[in-house]
Amino acid sequence: MGVDFVPAFRTTAVELEESPVVESEPQAESFVQATPATVSPGLVPAATRTTKPAAAIESKPAGAGTPKFDPRPDGPRSADSNTRALEALRARYIADAPHAPFIKSFTNIVFGEGDPCARIMFVGEAPGEEEDKTGRPFVGRAGQLLEKMIIAMGLSRETVYICNVLKVRPPNNATPTLEEAAASEPYLFEQVDIVAPEAIVTLGKSATSCILKLNDAMGSMRGRWHDLPLPTGRVVPVMPTFHPAFLLRSYTDENRAKVWSDLKMVMTRLGMAAKA
Ligand code: URA
Repeated sequence: MGVDFVPAFRTTAVELEESPVVESEPQAESFVQATPATVSPGLVPAATRTTKPAAAIESKPAGAGTPKFDPRPDGPRSADSNTRALEALRARYIADAPHAPFIKSFTNIVFGEGDPCARIMFVGEAPGEEEDKTGRPFVGRAGQLLEKMIIAMGLSRETVYICNVLKVRPPNNATPTLEEAAASEPYLFEQVDIVAPEAIVTLGKSATSCILKLNDAMGSMRGRWHDLPLPTGRVVPVMPTFHPAFLLRSYTDENRAKVWSDLKMVMTRLGMAAKA
């Protein structure tokens, strides 16, 4: 089973922090024959976002328009009530427009999609060009690879929930800044609290750093469980793994095996069998 992820090797590994984001081509080839894409580095301050690596994530300022949480007793949520809650949150996000001070021009808000009661949530950093055009997360080349990963887990896009830290595309696909991420974070955390997944898979350094308030290399963050304590008190297990755009770019046996190992840890934790 995991062998399907491993065969085609192309480029040497490139550190996630080293390459700028370009995610514009709509088609990814098969999971074993993908073409390279560039990836985004970690979160950086606005003034330096195109040139410097992530700085002190811990010192993020509070976001504007912090949403109010609606604490509800834990337990099974209905798809209908979660759908309504997510719609209400989306409407509040649009009204508050926490991105407005930072991002002036975009086509669509890319809020998130999938099963509103999903057991697994995938969180990336920010919409790219295709996502901005369509209003849907992970529909470009990296998204197509993500979908293959999800299918290999025996799941489908419809049975997981997929979203990003940022809900609008940063200009020129720039890496989200600390300020942008901080402004979006309360909405993301409320989104997580509504879906209440049993596990989050963070995709890449930027999303992982934002969510976990870590500024370590992906190599040391991935492959082990972290806790995300939400403002409501809920604690969600987080498994960081490489961003699919990184995987497309550095499509090595080693990287593919690492991603598959991360995903298998999630499946094991949730008692799921991988699709043959
Ligand atoms: N990269 C991301 O991080 N998110 C998307 O939605 C697409 C590409």
